[in-house]
Amino acid sequence: MSETDQNQARVRALTHVINGHAIGGTSDRFADVFNPALGSVSARVPLASVAEVDSAVAAANAAFPAWSETAPIKRARVLFKFKELLDRHHDELAELITREHGKVFSDAMGEVMRGIEIVEFACGIPNLLKTDFTDQIGGGIDNWNLRQPLGVVVGITPFNFPMMVPCWMFPVAIACGNTFVLKPSERDPSASIRLAELLKEAGLPDGVFNVVHGDKVAVDALLAHPDVSALSFVGSTPIAEYIYTEGTKRGKRVQALGGAKNHLVVMPDADLDQAVDALIGAAYGSAGERCMAISVAVAVGHIADELIERLTPRVKTLKIRNGMDREAEMGPLVTAAHRAKVAGYIDAGVAAGAKLVVDGRGHQVDGHEQGFFLGGTLFDDVQTDMTIYREEIFGPVLCVVRVPDFASAVELVNSNEFANGVSLFTSDGGVARAFSRQIQIGMVGINVPIPVPMAWHSFGGWKRSLFGDHHAYGEEGVRFYTRYKSIMQRWPDSIAKGAEFTMPVAK
Ligand code: NAD
Repeated sequence: MSETDQNQARVRALTHVINGHAIGGTSDRFADVFNPALGSVSARVPLASVAEVDSAVAAANAAFPAWSETAPIKRARVLFKFKELLDRHHDELAELITREHGKVFSDAMGEVMRGIEIVEFACGIPNLLKTDFTDQIGGGIDNWNLRQPLGVVVGITPFNFPMMVPCWMFPVAIACGNTFVLKPSERDPSASIRLAELLKEAGLPDGVFNVVHGDKVAVDALLAHPDVSALSFVGSTPIAEYIYTEGTKRGKRVQALGGAKNHLVVMPDADLDQAVDALIGAAYGSAGERCMAISVAVAVGHIADELIERLTPRVKTLKIRNGMDREAEMGPLVTAAHRAKVAGYIDAGVAAGAKLVVDGRGHQVDGHEQGFFLGGTLFDDVQTDMTIYREEIFGPVLCVVRVPDFASAVELVNSNEFANGVSLFTSDGGVARAFSRQIQIGMVGINVPIPVPMAWHSFGGWKRSLFGDHHAYGEEGVRFYTRYKSIMQRWPDSIAKGAEFTMPVAK
């Protein structure tokens, strides 16, 4: 039997995970999950009804009192065990990701590692929840503060990091004492189910972590639910803005991370070998389906011609294969519809007059003719009013924009509505410092193409790349998932001194 036949022979029926149990969909709404390298259906995922969402929130709500009262060190011990299980199942999780997302296996291994690192960070929760104490703020009075969990919190996540992005949220949230409902992407939902199984195996009480699959119906039910205290969202900008507006309108705490258009500025004094390597990896890695992918190269001054000359053969010779092939550098796009959308952007770029240097349309991979592959694409002479410059393409398409000098590069980047990540390649420390300070972007790389902060820093963009006040994970995550409470205390003989009508001040 060929791999395609074998795959079609076992279309798996996926389940929600509610209160520690696998629950099959009770509504008649399902979505197909594809293996994008083969173009075939590998699973069917149930799309939750409002009643199914209600039961997941009810399970999380019921689990909250006991979990929030569990000592942080005991919560951390469950996460330690979970981390050990993730280490043991690292390859299996990466394979699940590659088979549903399409990214190459080594990249999926990196994604799993980045998820594990957040779990490692969350294991430090006893220390992270330590707060400030002031002895003797006045006669016999002390003042200190607590960070207390919010209750039931929700994560709504995108297709492009089916393990790492959920891990930006739930390890920190549950470490802080919250209970969690995850609504993962319906396009690659299997990793979330496996995470729920491993959390249970690690000893997490039932109901603390729940998974409901679904689409807008599930998301709207979560937004409207009175027992949901907070939502973390990662996905495209229009949906991020919708979640933020609807969630905050109902008094919920919301952090909603949106789309991106990330620039890599190449100064004339940059090490061109390094800049070209960086552009190839950051523009075409994961087929450009990363929120920190570089989609615009800003060539400053005379460097442009040589940059195009060096990029062209590299784009033409990318090893585009099934992501399970260990030699592959780039896999397919996630679905046929997404491939058609990205190809539509290439058509629009040509029609608008950009110079198509390498055309990825029509790229075929031997033995995978039904797969959702697209070749690497390179545009030169892209102008800022073109759709391919203004909109997020989320595919293996790199646009080169030529600018005369450093100031124009900074102005170009700062004029963009998105502000997730940016990178500068230069050998001049003074230019690098000025860039870091002047650029209005949430995450900046100097000679680093994809500056995704480590687990103990925090991740987030500015402007229309993030709606809300907190970045994800790290200490920002701890702040997002806890409420600040100040306590002032006086014992006991000093209490009966009569009423005071003036604003208390230290005596
Ligand atoms: P998406 O916005 O289509 O979907 C994200 C989530 O929202 C999914 O769970 C989906 O089911 C749900 N959703 C989709 N349409 C909805 C609707 N109309 N109403 C309510 N919920 C809806 O995003 P995607 O295609 O899965 O992921 C790619 C996008 O995510 C890109 O724009 C990328 O830049 C962005 N992203 C951003 C970051 C970041 O940190 N800023 C990280 C990863 C991905």
